[in-house]
Amino acid sequence: MLVDSHCHLNFPDFKDDLDDVMRRADLNGIKTMLTVNTRLSESLTIRKIADTYPHVFCTVGVHPHDAKDYADDALLGKIKELSKHPKVVGLGETGLDYYYNNSDSKDQIHCFDIHLIAAKQLDLPIVVHTRDADTDTIDCLDRTPGTKGVFHCFSGGLDMARAGLDRGYYISFSGIITFKKADELREVVKFVPLDRILVETDSPFLAPIPHRGKRNEPAFTLHTAEIVAELKGIPLTDIAKQTTDNFFTLFNRATRPA
Ligand SMILES: [Zn+2]
Ligand SMILES: [Zn+2]
Repeated sequence: MLVDSHCHLNFPDFKDDLDDVMRRADLNGIKTMLTVNTRLSESLTIRKIADTYPHVFCTVGVHPHDAKDYADDALLGKIKELSKHPKVVGLGETGLDYYYNNSDSKDQIHCFDIHLIAAKQLDLPIVVHTRDADTDTIDCLDRTPGTKGVFHCFSGGLDMARAGLDRGYYISFSGIITFKKADELREVVKFVPLDRILVETDSPFLAPIPHRGKRNEPAFTLHTAEIVAELKGIPLTDIAKQTTDNFFTLFNRATRPA
């Protein structure tokens, strides 16, 4: 079995055919999914999906793009309240995105700090989105030491991967590693130890080859796992088992399917 450790099943792209999407995921061996929150205003919709499908878990958090709408003192209390739901197994996605800068960096940093404090207080893993913001991301992690989590949809270099690993973080690879121009990133896959790797789709975005340009969906986790297996030179079944074990070690409130 495989776990899609990061998808957005509440996005409008899935509103007409979510049952079919789930069926295709199942047929391809994806037996657990984590649907990740980007705005607190969507947490009800996300919970509903997690309540409908037993093997779907969810998070609570604010994407760095949306930090401007949540950068106030109420955020910590809201996150804590929403995290009480039994299908919530982590916080995020939060972090810093200086590539798009859709929110002011001050607001992004404030929101990220609040998520890290909440993660520590609640003992929940945190899903980190980081792009073109290596130094500030690590500074935030070091301001609240002792958190655990994952750098999702990793697209950084070896130094950033090492910085995350040194702090106990996992590294999650998406369909980007299947892209022709991703040689540098494939070197990072080779570098990250097997017991710290997760796989994800980040669907509906970033469909892997051979589906590039189309809507992405959890079933396509398989293509990413295949490339990881190839790069590591071990059978796909081993990668599947290891990344699944890693997921349930990190997100230890999620229950394994029977
Ligand atoms: Zn992200
Ligand atoms: Zn995402």
